[in-house]
Amino acid sequence: MNKEILVLVDDGHGEMTPGKRTPKFTDGSVIKEHQFNQPVATKLVALLKHNGLSAHNITQGNADVTLPTRVKIANALAAIHLRKYPNGKVIFISVHYNAMSDNWSSVSGVETFHHYGSKEGKRLAADVHSEIIKGTVQSNRGVKEAGYYVIKYTSMPAILVELGFMSNLREASLMLDQDFQYECASEICEGVKKYFNITESAPGPLPILTPSTKLGYSKLRHLHNNFLTDVHIYKSNKPPEYVLGTPRRYESISQIESKYKDVEAIVNANLFPFSAVDQAKTPLGYGLIITDNGQGKKIADYYQNSSPNFVDLIAWKDGKVTIETVTSHIVDNRRLANIQGNAFFGASGCYALKIEGKDTRLYWDKVSHANSYTDRTMVGVDGEGMWYMIVAESNTNSKGLRALDQQVICDLLGLDYCVNFDGGGSSAMKHKGKFVTKQSGRNIPAAFISRL
Ligand SMILES: [Zn+2]
Repeated sequence: MNKEILVLVDDGHGEMTPGKRTPKFTDGSVIKEHQFNQPVATKLVALLKHNGLSAHNITQGNADVTLPTRVKIANALAAIHLRKYPNGKVIFISVHYNAMSDNWSSVSGVETFHHYGSKEGKRLAADVHSEIIKGTVQSNRGVKEAGYYVIKYTSMPAILVELGFMSNLREASLMLDQDFQYECASEICEGVKKYFNITESAPGPLPILTPSTKLGYSKLRHLHNNFLTDVHIYKSNKPPEYVLGTPRRYESISQIESKYKDVEAIVNANLFPFSAVDQAKTPLGYGLIITDNGQGKKIADYYQNSSPNFVDLIAWKDGKVTIETVTSHIVDNRRLANIQGNAFFGASGCYALKIEGKDTRLYWDKVSHANSYTDRTMVGVDGEGMWYMIVAESNTNSKGLRALDQQVICDLLGLDYCVNFDGGGSSAMKHKGKFVTKQSGRNIPAAFISRL
C-alpha cells in the first residue's frame, strides 16, 4: 500500500528570505532560490501522488517560514499520518539550490545531504542521489553528511538535495527552465521509489485530470510534454456576457466586475488598440461590438470594428454559434446592427481553436504567440450547449499553453466552438469575488462574466 508512505517535501526558503539568490545577471536581474525550489517541490508532490504515494508540500505558498516551524509542521504531519497508518512510513526531502558566494563562481554540481550518522537518511540519500546524477550533465559532488537544521531535527529519515549552484552562471540559467525543474522532480521521485522498493511504474504520464462535469468553477492540472499547467474552468448553462469597462479607459478586472451585479465568474477579454501610440491618444478597444449589457445604451460605437487579423465569436440568440472572420478595418454598421440585435454577444479573439467540433487553425498564422507557452483565455461551447470560460495559467508552477495544447483542452471538454481571447500575461479569472489565478495587473477594456 503505497498510500501508507508519506513524503514530506520542503521548498527550503520563502520568497523573501534574505540572500538566497543568484548574483546579478548582466541585465541586472536576479533569480531567487525560491523560484526554483517551489516549482520543483510542487512538481515532486504531483509526481509522488501520481505514483500512488502520499505526499505533502509542507509550506505551500511564498511565505518565509522559519526552519523550526518547518520542522514542527513536518513532525506534526508525520504524527498524524502514523496515527492513521500505524505501519506507515514517512520521509522528508528538502529541495535547495546551492551557492558558493555572492559573486559568480565556477563551482558547480549536485550533492545530497543526510544527517550525521543517520543510517536510513544515508540510504535514502544514496538512492535519490543515484537518480539525480542521471539527468542534466552536472558534476557529481556526492552524498554527504551535515548538521543542517531540517535534517537534524525532523523525526523521520531526511535528506536535503542541492540541485545545482545559483552562483554558477550555467546552472543559474537552468533554474527557471521548466524542463530542468521537472527533470529534478522526476529523478527525486524515482529515487524515493527505489528507497521503498517500488518497482511498478506510474500508470502512464501524469494524467490530464478528468474535468468536473458539474456547473460552476473547477480546476484541472494539465500535463503535456512534461509540463504542468493549471487550467481554471467556469462552466455555465448560458452564454457568458461580454461586458465593458469605462469607455475609452482601460480598467482592472476588479473595477469592471464592480459595475455588474451577481458576478459569479469573470475573465479578461482583451481587445487591444491598434498600437501603443493609438492607445496613448485614444485608448480604444479593438474588436467586435457587443450588446448593451443591460445598461440601456447602445455602445456600438465603443469599439472599432474587428481587426482583419482577428476572428469573431458570436453567440446568437437562436442558439447558434458562429466564428467569423472580417476582411477590413472599416466598420460595417449593418453587420454590427444585426449582431447587436440578434446575438447575446459578439467578441473578437486572436484565433479559433474549434469550429463545428473540428480542429481549426484559423488565424494561427496571424499571431506568432500561438506557438509559445503562455497564459490563455478561451471561451467556447460544447455539444450540449454548455458554455465555458477557461483560463490556463502561466507562472513558476504552471507552464502555460500553446494553441496546440489548447485544442487538447477543447477535446477534453467536448467543445464544438472555441476561440482564444487573450494576450500573453493578461489572463485572469475571478470566481465569487476572489482571484483563482494569479492577479493580472494589466488593465483591460472588456471582460466576460457569468452571473447567477
Ligand atoms: Zn537553500
